[in-house]
Amino acid sequence: MQAGRLIVLTGPSGVGKGTLLRSLLRQHPELHLSVSATTRQPRPGEVDGKQYYFVSREEFEEMVAAGELLEWAEYAGNYYGTPRAAVEKPLQLGQSVVLEIEVVGARQINKTFPSALRIFILPPSWAELERRIRSRGSENEQAIAKRLSSAKTEIAAADEFDLQIVNDDLAKAVLSIEAAIFSPTNT
Ligand code: ADP
Ligand code: 5GP
Repeated sequence: MQAGRLIVLTGPSGVGKGTLLRSLLRQHPELHLSVSATTRQPRPGEVDGKQYYFVSREEFEEMVAAGELLEWAEYAGNYYGTPRAAVEKPLQLGQSVVLEIEVVGARQINKTFPSALRIFILPPSWAELERRIRSRGSENEQAIAKRLSSAKTEIAAADEFDLQIVNDDLAKAVLSIEAAIFSPTNT
């Protein structure tokens, strides 16, 4: 059986990665979204095992020590990581897997899965990125400041990735991601 593809969606917090993915997965239920582990607190409405596996710092550190994570990073004061089994099993079964992760983790994937398609999502402008982070209303001022500070470094790394897509018009950005994933030249 042919192995599935690994697709990495990265870019700064608030750029719209989650929104783009939800739209993409509605249209392509055959894509498998990997659920990450994190030490951050759940936002209202987030369910353990659905958006994330919410774990303590101790539990996370045990997962790292046991080699259970394919990649991980500390971001804005919390740990985030991709459980290895949740990626390797579907890939072996021929299913394509999408990771929605920050830049440090996306760089690690480059080493372990050089054939992964790595897409960087850019905001139409800095002001719009800031507006989106604030409009989501999920972080306090301190957390917003940390995310905006990380965003500067992340955007500077956009060229390291295979493809850069600007998330201005949502529908157009979804079409560009679809084209990249399903284009024979990117396989
Ligand atoms: P990320 O997952 O990258 O942190 P989100 O998907 O949570 O970002 O999006 C952040 C905010 O921006 C949300 O309120 C979302 O509705 C909004 N958003 C996402 N894409 C667009 C877009 N193309 N135009 C306007 N608002 C958008
Ligand atoms: P949030 O707290 O907004 O859900 O996520 C913060 C950042 O962590 C986002 O950029 C998101 O893509 C990233 N992230 C989510 N899961 C993972 C993961 O498993 N690994 C890494 N490296 N980053 C992740």
